[in-house]
Amino acid sequence: MSDNRRVYLDYSATTPVKKEVLDTMIPYFTENFGNPSSLYTIGLESKAAIDHAREQVAGLIGAKPSEVYFTGGGSESDNWVLESIANDMKAKGKGKHIITSRIEHHAVLYTCQFLEKNGYDVTYLDVDEEGFVSPEDLEKAIRDDTILVSIMFINNEIGTIEPIKELAEVAHRHNILFHTDAVQAIGNTAIDVHEMGIDLMSMSSHKIYGPKGEGALYCRRGIRIPSFIHGGAQENGKRAGTENLAGIVGFGKAAELATQNLEHHIQHCSELRNYLIERVIATIPDVVVNGPKDMSRRHPGNANITFKYIEGESILLLLDSFGIAVSTGSACSSKSLEPSHVLSSIGLSDDIIHGTIRFTVGDMTTKEDIDYVVEKLGIVVARLREISSVSAEKGW
Ligand SMILES: *Cc1c(COP(=O)(O)O)cnc(C)c1O
Repeated sequence: MSDNRRVYLDYSATTPVKKEVLDTMIPYFTENFGNPSSLYTIGLESKAAIDHAREQVAGLIGAKPSEVYFTGGGSESDNWVLESIANDMKAKGKGKHIITSRIEHHAVLYTCQFLEKNGYDVTYLDVDEEGFVSPEDLEKAIRDDTILVSIMFINNEIGTIEPIKELAEVAHRHNILFHTDAVQAIGNTAIDVHEMGIDLMSMSSHKIYGPKGEGALYCRRGIRIPSFIHGGAQENGKRAGTENLAGIVGFGKAAELATQNLEHHIQHCSELRNYLIERVIATIPDVVVNGPKDMSRRHPGNANITFKYIEGESILLLLDSFGIAVSTGSACSSKSLEPSHVLSSIGLSDDIIHGTIRFTVGDMTTKEDIDYVVEKLGIVVARLREISSVSAEKGW
C-alpha cells in the first residue's frame, strides 16, 4: 500500500462531472440565475438555456426536443411512467396488466411491486443465462388487458443489451405502449427512439458525466402521459416545480458530449474492459465471467466476474484499501447481503453470486489503472482464498 493511487471502476454507479460540463453549469448558479418562468431578460435567458439543453438531450436519442421532459433522475422517470400510465389506463377501463422483466433496476421493480399492492397485475419475464429477454416470451405474456411493457435497455449489473427494437415491435403489434429504462444505455450505445419504436424512455444525467439529481423522460409525440408532479406549468405542465436550471444545463452539455464522443467512448471502454477480462482470466484461477459472451451485445464498460470460494464483500473492502472502487452486484443492494436478483435470474447459485464483483470502466480509465487493479486483485483474491481454505481445514 505504498502508493496512493486511486482507481475508480464503478462508472455504472455514477460518473464524475466532466470539467466542460461543470464550466457550462457554473454561471447558472450565479449570474444567470433567473427563473425560467419569469418574463424579463434573465428569466428568458434561463428559458433559452433549458430549450437548448432539451435539444442536446433530444439529439443524443434521435428525438424531437418537444418529446423530452426533464425530471429529477432515472428513478423519477421510471416511477412517472409506470404509475401514471397505470392509473390512466385503469381509469379508462383499458386494463391493469403490466409486463416487465425479472432483471429490472429497483426503480422499476419496486414500482411494479407497489402497483401490485394497488390492484394491478404484473408479469415478470424470465431471462436466459446471459440476461436476454425473449420477444417470444413477451408475445406469450400479452393479455387483452395489458397496458404497458417495460423492459430495460441495458442491464446495470451484467451489461446485457436487450433486443429493444424487437420487443417494441411485439408490444406495438398488440397496440401496447413500450417503455424502456435506458439509464445505462444513453451514451453507451447508439439510440434512435423513432427507428427503434420506443414510446417512453427513462434517462439519467449522472451516469453520463453530468450532475446527479437530473434526468429526463422521452415521451413520443401523440402519447398523453398524465403529469406526475402537480403545480406550475413547467415542462409543458407535466412536471411542476422551478427547474433545476444548472442541472438541466449540465445534463444538456453531458448529452452533447456523449453524442460527439459515442464511437470513441465505446471503443475506449470496450478495449479496456476486454483487457481487464483477459488479464483476470490469465492471472487468477477459478473465475467466471457473467453476462453476454458476445461483447457487441454488452455494455462497453461492463465486466461482471465471479471469484469462486470467496466473498465479494471482502474483495471489495480489500480493494478499497488499495484505493480501488468496485461494486458487488448492484450499488443499491450493497448494504444488504441479499443475493442480487439479476444474478439469480440468470441461474447463478447463491455461492457464486456472493463471490461476484462488477467492474465498470469509463472515459477516465487508463490501461495503467487496469494493470494496477489486476495486480492488486491477484493479491487480494489469493489472500482471501488462503484464509478460506485454512478455515475450511480447521472446520471454522
Ligand atoms: C442508476 C440507474 C437508475 C436510477 O437513476 P437515478 O438517476 O440514480 O435515479 C435507474 N435505472 C438504471 C438501469 C440505473 O442504472
